[in-house]
Amino acid sequence: MFTTSSVCGDRKLIYVFLCVDFDRDAAFPKIGYKHAISKPKQSETQDILADPERSAEVQGTIDGFEQSLSFLIDRKLPTVFYFEARTIDIVAKQYPDFFKKLNQTFFEIGLHSYDHEDLLGEETGVPLENEEEYNLIKKAKDKVQQLFSTEVHGFRAPYMRLSANTQSILTDLDFTYDSSIYEESNKAIMPHPINQTLIEFPVIKTPKESLMGGMYTYLWPLFEGKRGIKEIIRNYNQLIQNTVEENTYISINLHSWHFAYNVEHNVYLSEKEIRKNTEFLIKLISKIEENEEVQFSTPKMWLEENSSFGKK
Ligand SMILES: [Zn+2]
Repeated sequence: MFTTSSVCGDRKLIYVFLCVDFDRDAAFPKIGYKHAISKPKQSETQDILADPERSAEVQGTIDGFEQSLSFLIDRKLPTVFYFEARTIDIVAKQYPDFFKKLNQTFFEIGLHSYDHEDLLGEETGVPLENEEEYNLIKKAKDKVQQLFSTEVHGFRAPYMRLSANTQSILTDLDFTYDSSIYEESNKAIMPHPINQTLIEFPVIKTPKESLMGGMYTYLWPLFEGKRGIKEIIRNYNQLIQNTVEENTYISINLHSWHFAYNVEHNVYLSEKEIRKNTEFLIKLISKIEENEEVQFSTPKMWLEENSSFGKK
């Protein structure tokens, strides 16, 4: 158990959100294409690359996320999934048993666009016009809502990049929150109102000069072998220890396929390596749970429990 000398008697509460970006395997922006391509499919023929469905591969998520999903279900751990509409549609059609497991009351269903579009066109060179982006996000929201028979409240932009229009589109489409902006902090943070109805839940990136070094709270470096599990656990515990403010949050962010696919080496991993990556996640969650001030939650649950937030 970690003691917090800065808090005298009162129990502070820190929310932890486990956020899963549910993508096609290693989505990447290809010049001239609006939809993302799965990295393992990058050498396919032009007709496959040009087809948003055939250029999407979900094998990494199916093989890699199954054990973690069972763990989350066994523990009834609140988790938010940001679903790419195309990917979850493919999973629902081709892997109905896997899809059914995603339908849990303690899972929050969020959106991650339709085909992992680079909304700004920063890397594809083909930005989306306002109306096109509106129609796309609407179509994606409708699809995910229809698949899960539930309302979608949250959005995370592909590549964490919003266009100049995205926030007003999310507002018009009745989203409650967005989570696509990084905020530098060495402790847990509060969300920010963007306007009267839309709230931003930033993702923490720690300052370079902090004890944690510059760390995005994505588990990317862990699964790519760039940071060890001990360092990641130490950094999360440091964020918790640095926090004195009540009702703040920290998020743990990861990709559904990353347990089974290494981006740098462009390879699918063995069962043994998948198990090792799953154990990393279980260890991280278990160690964070040892902090008595921590409560696993989701942005929507946070908003329900802090209902006066943003209202004056
Ligand atoms: Zn993504």
